[in-house]
Amino acid sequence: MAVGRKPNTQALQVNETGLLLDERGCVHVDELCRSNLPNVYAVGDLVRGPMLAHKAAEEAIMVVERIAGQPTRVNYDTIPWVIYTSPEIAWAGKSERQLRAAARDYKIGVFPLSASGRARAMGATKGMTKVLADRRTDRILGVHMVAAHAGEMLAEAVLALELEATLDEFTSVIRVSTSTVERRSRSMVRGLRCSVARRAISSNVARSGAVLCGSGEEVRSVALIARNVTDGAHAGKARGRSAGAQGGVASPAA
Ligand SMILES: Cc1cc2nc3c(=O)[nH]c(=O)nc-3n(C[C@H](O)[C@H](O)[C@H](O)COP(=O)(O)OP(=O)(O)OC[C@H]3O[C@@H](n4cnc5c(N)ncnc54)[C@H](O)[C@@H]3O)c2cc1C
Repeated sequence: MAVGRKPNTQALQVNETGLLLDERGCVHVDELCRSNLPNVYAVGDLVRGPMLAHKAAEEAIMVVERIAGQPTRVNYDTIPWVIYTSPEIAWAGKSERQLRAAARDYKIGVFPLSASGRARAMGATKGMTKVLADRRTDRILGVHMVAAHAGEMLAEAVLALELEATLDEFTSVIRVSTSTVERRSRSMVRGLRCSVARRAISSNVARSGAVLCGSGEEVRSVALIARNVTDGAHAGKARGRSAGAQGGVASPAA
């Protein structure tokens, strides 16, 4: 684990040059990595934002292309994060805390790895995937994973965020069964199907604060359960299940 990293800016003679630093001692830059001095840019760990190699590289490319007259930008909203623990922790996009602070109306799809046959076969059932999407537009806002190979699986989520994909668009892509990526997209399917169900079911179930998908492994069964919930046939059973244990979609308040 690397902790306590700090910017090495003492040697930059900020008093003589007038280079502006921020409160952490990093070089103060705008979203295009321009410092307060003309023609002086700074990128990477030396400036605000995550201390990640790919973020530094993207900023460097942007600066070079900007100097060459290109309109390149870095989309800071889609920078992927990964912590190489076991299991890995990876995320991109908004967190629930950020969405709550912005008063965004969002929904959550959760999929525990213990419900994935592939994860069981790999002996890697620790973890979960959480997908956050705008309740009104269905646009994916954030993806959070604790899982073996989460850093690899996150790439697809970053693409979805970059393309501003909705849950529907994301889940319409066919994936290999039973790949590790498929299990994550499954959680999105659950979120999508259940959100459709949620809109349709009776208000007394909606008031319970969560619409749940059951523990079945196949998307088919999830869709079936969602349809049953929609029909009201299993509304009573659905009300009693636990989203955290079985996966599904829950309202933020649940
Ligand atoms: C142990 C560890 C593991 C990491 N693992 C990952 C990972 O798995 N994935 C990931 O995305 N990121 C990882 N990081 C972070 C990643 O290494 C940094 O985010 C990235 O290297 C930042 O790039 P940079 O160009 O800003 O800085 P650096 O790569 O640190 O490059 C700065 C360079 O400037 C030189 N320099 C410093 N001061 C001066 C000076 N006064 N004059 C001239 N040259 C100077 C330094 O010698 C260095 O060569 C890790 C970091 C650490 C410490």
